[in-house]
Amino acid sequence: MSLSYLNNPGSAYVHIPFCRRRCYYCDFPISVGGDRPPLVWLEEYVEALCTEITMAPVPSEPLRTVFFGGGTPSLLPVTLLGKILETIEQHLGIAPGAEISLEIDPGTFTYKQLTGYHKLGINRVSLGVQTFTEELLTIAGRSHSLEDSKKAIELIYDSPINNFSIDLISGLPHQTLEQWKSSLQTAIKIAPHHISCYDLVLEPTTVFAKQYEPGTKPLPTNTETAKMYQLADEMLTEAGYEHYEISNYAQPGYQCQHNRVYWQNKPYYGFGMSATSYVQRQRFSRPRTRQEYYTWVNHGGIIDSPKTSHPDLLLETLMLGLRLAEGVSFAQISLEFGQETLNQISSCLQPYYERRWVENIGSERFRLTAPQGFLFSNTILGALFEVFLNKPQRRRGRRETREGEY
Ligand code: SF4
Repeated sequence: MSLSYLNNPGSAYVHIPFCRRRCYYCDFPISVGGDRPPLVWLEEYVEALCTEITMAPVPSEPLRTVFFGGGTPSLLPVTLLGKILETIEQHLGIAPGAEISLEIDPGTFTYKQLTGYHKLGINRVSLGVQTFTEELLTIAGRSHSLEDSKKAIELIYDSPINNFSIDLISGLPHQTLEQWKSSLQTAIKIAPHHISCYDLVLEPTTVFAKQYEPGTKPLPTNTETAKMYQLADEMLTEAGYEHYEISNYAQPGYQCQHNRVYWQNKPYYGFGMSATSYVQRQRFSRPRTRQEYYTWVNHGGIIDSPKTSHPDLLLETLMLGLRLAEGVSFAQISLEFGQETLNQISSCLQPYYERRWVENIGSERFRLTAPQGFLFSNTILGALFEVFLNKPQRRRGRRETREGEY
């Protein structure tokens, strides 16, 4: 096994920060611009983005995945998306057959846009449905209706794009187990290739955090959200989806290749306001407002963060790799961090093997079990953090960001 892949990004995340309004649970760095954000904002942003892309070091091989996340990338006209992709193609290269994903929200695109995306080479879309219960859309402050979601799904099925994912959220205020079950049933009937199920976290600066107290009604209790998690595992695996990552399910052959790069702790470029890159073991987050981002680009886009330290690298590798159903390779840990480290990991995980939250896959890999190990991932990762950093971890388990956002 060679470690050369660690220095060669094969993926790029591109952040498009514009949204119609801010959802009540969202703390992402975005610019709220109403139904049609001013074109001058979009053009100015794309100009800076393309300048940043041309300043990136050229990889030894063309990119195998590109992910446009946000925000709401479908608020960008096709011509501007084309300009970004052309810049990536010319400067970094895009491999034939590369996965090129775009996050889209119901009510923000037309059939013509979808065919335009397809002509640009976009071959995967991820639709922010969140719930198939109308009243929960209102409670969450989403800008779309159930009718918008239905139309969006019809448009996608009519379009030439044939790799389609949807996002769902569990644990919303007032959400019942029955409503969650009904959203899952609808999702199964629609049969997208990929489904992400995220568990709501009350982020401190959000409207929800001002309205609700963690652990109290109308938020579902921890027991209820654990039941929602188990129900998703049961229903989606029964319907033929692989539970391939803590929060993600895919029909065979449709795992998100871009997100797998994050979970395998491999390097990737990040472009745009607030985007994080991981190149040469240096993780760097760009400024979180548009004006600061423009200033940073105009000053040469200098990346000045230190390289990730040894214990951080190990813990990131475990924290991300254990999200995957295929788990982590013994050989990889031994090669990168040494046999002694591997022994320490095994002894730390022993109690969790006994509870069947952790298991080996033959003699090659170890993983969290689904759904029990995934459900208790915070506890297991907490134990690893205490061993290697000698301090408790922040919450790092089930709920993460939307697909593509790191
Ligand atoms: S959740 Fe998504 S659509 Fe809603 S404000 Fe945040 S980034 Fe925009």
